[in-house]
Formats: sequence, structure tokens, C-alpha cells
Amino acid sequence: MEQKCKYVFVTGGVTSSLGKGIIAASLAKLLQARGYRVTIQKFDPYINVDPGTLNPYEHGECYVTEDGAETDLDLGHYERFLNVPTSQANNVTTGKIYQTVIENERRGDYLGKTVQVVPHITDEIKRRMKLLGESGNFDIVITEIGGTVGDIESLPFVEAVRQLNWELGDDNTIVIHLTLIPYLSAAGELKTKPTQHSVRFLLESGVQPDILVCRTEHPLNADIRRKVALFCNVNVNAVIESIDLETIYDVPLVMLKEKLDKVVLAKLKLPAKQEPLLEQWKEFLSHVKHPKNEVQIALVGKYVELPDAYKSINEAFIHAGAANECSVKVKYVHSELLTDENVAEKLKNYQGILVAPGFGGRGIDGKLVAIKYARENNVPFFGICLGMQCSVIEFARNVMGHTDAHSVEMKEDTNYPVIDMMVEQKAVTQKGGTMRLGAYDCNLTKGSLASKIYGKSKISERHRHRYEFNSKYLAAFEKNGMMITGTNPETGLAEIVEIPKHPFFIGVQFHPELKSTVENPHPIFVKFIKKAIETKSL
Ligand code: GLN
Repeated sequence: MEQKCKYVFVTGGVTSSLGKGIIAASLAKLLQARGYRVTIQKFDPYINVDPGTLNPYEHGECYVTEDGAETDLDLGHYERFLNVPTSQANNVTTGKIYQTVIENERRGDYLGKTVQVVPHITDEIKRRMKLLGESGNFDIVITEIGGTVGDIESLPFVEAVRQLNWELGDDNTIVIHLTLIPYLSAAGELKTKPTQHSVRFLLESGVQPDILVCRTEHPLNADIRRKVALFCNVNVNAVIESIDLETIYDVPLVMLKEKLDKVVLAKLKLPAKQEPLLEQWKEFLSHVKHPKNEVQIALVGKYVELPDAYKSINEAFIHAGAANECSVKVKYVHSELLTDENVAEKLKNYQGILVAPGFGGRGIDGKLVAIKYARENNVPFFGICLGMQCSVIEFARNVMGHTDAHSVEMKEDTNYPVIDMMVEQKAVTQKGGTMRLGAYDCNLTKGSLASKIYGKSKISERHRHRYEFNSKYLAAFEKNGMMITGTNPETGLAEIVEIPKHPFFIGVQFHPELKSTVENPHPIFVKFIKKAIETKSL
């Protein structure tokens, strides 16, 4: 049978955080722009079944797909670059692999056999590596292997790559190894030894990389390229320089210059088709680099020490900035440090305030203080998930006079539970994958800010929460000037709150940042920035 889909594996060496996800997404973008149907999947060696139970400090933001998978934040890059949704199948962890194998074992699928890492675990890894490829929807599947080669937990994944390469052949599978060429300033030289060592790790596992993408702070000259090629056993044209850049959105264009896409296609024996169509991408980049305006936005949250915790929000601001030809300076404001006394001083220089998603009580008081400030001073306000819930609590306390109003997440026995646990959540005992997750429809109220922002009456957005607006208090809120302008058509769950008397005050129960892409910047972010620009010129 003819092999339909081709597989590209991306491994990493020397150190973590080299940007495998961005390289994978950039390659995918170039192949897509040449007319190929491409998807990217991430295989993570940790034992959590998914990253949903990880603290953002551990692993950055948890990205949620349309079909409700809690996934690695690299999937966000894939979607933002490709403008194509990912799914449950695009993120696999060691935990998921073992869970399946153990379920199979209990069912009796391996009856009589000893269940082992090789072949049972590696077979399950291979089965999942090929799943999207066998769907018939893609010409090329790029698989990013999380972690660094040489880690104990990566071994079964590298072994699975070796076996797939053997089974499917060199024309159908290639391995790109992302590595680091450090610059030793004392010696004034770029050093190739760490790269040689990490390639040796791969070779010991029987995997010969086809292409080396070399992260570097300085350009690689012909000598260095030759040396890396010779000692790592690859063609000179397969040594790709990946120099540090101003923005991640530059990477596809630099990879194009380095001919990464052409080398990949040649190795896979695929035609180059057309030159990549990247006009829209280039226009976006030019807006990012040559803004006509600048605004300052305060992002009020409690995970501010780690920028990756709010990855998608940051990226959505870049997209929205470009759409407005405006540079958006997002400053993190630690919610735990905000008080009634210092809020005016700390927030006075911002043209917009965003209160971030989150879990648990830490930093809530500061979020409420920030919202009060935005509401009373007509500063454009945008609350996401917990940020929306806080805007409800703040309104109940300071406008409606219920000083004890709270969310039952923070205070179970509150007398005025304006944010309550969703009914279906009350029976939930397990933590992993049990929130209200993924895409749900939402109807917008005619004439509302939300309906003007979206320009339509029905939308679909992604979710990740256990608590909701308590509709028992709906009439009281609306009487006092906070409106519910977005609701779920089936359950009536409140998805959007607004204060029509305020110039721009919107809180959303869903996560709009997860759907913002280079090609489709999210309308709420775009309008929020537009309003911030107007505020600046007042
Ligand atoms: N902790 C809140 C809830 O579970 C909000 C979640 C979030 O901000 N993603 O409903």
C-alpha cells in the first residue's frame, strides 16, 4: 500500500527551552504555505496524564483545545501559527501511554505475556504517533518530542522513533534535532562539542538525525557548519542556523531563508510545490515591527513571576496590537501586592486593565481592588474566567452593597454566593480532566458590547472552569447595572458580563486568548486595544 502521510520528528538536545515548539510550528507554517496539509503533535515524557493538574509555575499555561483536551502550551503555538485547531490526539504523555497499556492489560489483551516497555509501551507510542497521519487529513505530521535526549524518560519515545523510521523507511520519516551551539566569550568562539555529544546520545539509541537546527547567539560560519556536519554525520545543507530573534514570528521567515522547508521536502522526496505564500504573515510582522502607536496594559494576576503562565494572553495582545498597528506593552502587576491604598499609584499609567484567569484564593483581594479601580475610573477592563468572576464579586460588594459576596471557590459558606459551583461539578471527585472543558456555544444579547465586538449573535469559545455566575442573582445584578450579555443556549450559564454605563467593561467566563491566531486576532482583544488607544488620546 502506498504510504500516504510522511512523518517529521523533532527532538531536542543539550538543554531544554531551545524552542522546539517554535521550530516545529515554523516548519509547519512553511510547509502549509507551500500547499501541504500539516499538523503538529507533542509527545511529552512526563507521567501526568495531561498537564491539567500541573501548577502554572511547573509547566506554564495549560492550553485547551476545541474538543476539551488540557494540553501543553506548545499546542497554542501550533494553532497560532497554522490557524488550524488541534485536538485530543495532538498531545500525548507518558501517563496517557501507560494508562492505555495498563487498561489493555487488565482487559486481558496481552493474556499470558509479560507486559514490557519494549514492545508494549513503544508499540502504544507508535500507534499514537501514526493516529493523525492515518486519518487521511494530513500529508505531513510533525511530532515534537518533549524533553531533552538523554533523559531517562525520553528513551521509549526515541526508541519508538527509531522503530518507525525502520518500518516506514527513510523517505517517509525524518528526524530534526534541535541543539545549541554556545558561544564562549572567554575563548571568543562558538563551541560544537555539546551538539556532537547530544547527537551521539541519539546515535547510541539508533537514531541518526537528518537535519540539525542549531540555536546560536552568533552566526555560524562555513567552517562551523562543516565541522558540525562532519562530526554529526549530516549534509552541510542540513545544518540550519537558528539565531536569536526579536520575535518568535520572525522564525518562519528565517527558516525559509535557511531553506529548512526545502531540505525537509527533499529528504521526504516530496515536491517543493509553490514558493510559500506568506503575504499575510509578512504584513502582520511589519505591523508588529513598525507600530504607529503604543499602549500600556496591566495584566493583573498571581503567576506573574513566570511569563509562560499567561502565554496565550500575551500572544493574543501581539495579534491585537498588529491589527491596530499598535505596540502593546503588557506589564505584569502582581495581584498580591495591590491594595486600596496603592492601586491608583500602581495602575495610573495604563490604558487598559486585564484581570487574569486563575484558581484559588491567593491574590483575590488585589484583583478586586484592580477591578474597582477600573470600574470607577472608566479604564477599559477585560476579565477572563476568574477575572470575570472577580468582576461579579466586586460589583456585588461595592455597587450592590453585599460586602460578604464571594465565590464558593474561595469561601464555601459565604452568605452571598454570586459565583457558585456548577451543578454537574458537585458530583465530581477526581481532579484530572473534569472541569467544564472545550468549546461551547454562546448567544449574545442584541445591542450589547459583546455583540458589537463580535459582529454576530452566536459565538463559540473554549472553557476551563468549575464555577459559574449564580443566576439566582441575575435580576439583582441587572437592576444595578451589570448585564449578562452572553449565555449558553442549552444551560443558560452566564458567559459574559458587561457594565453598559462604563466605556468598556467586559468579563468573559471563557478563554478568548486560546482562539487568537496571527490570521484571526481575537475580536475582544482587538477592540480592547482599540479602546485603550482611544483612552490614551483623551
Ligand atoms: N477557578 C475558577 C473556576 O474554576 C476560574 C478558572 C479559570 O480562571 N480558568 O471556575
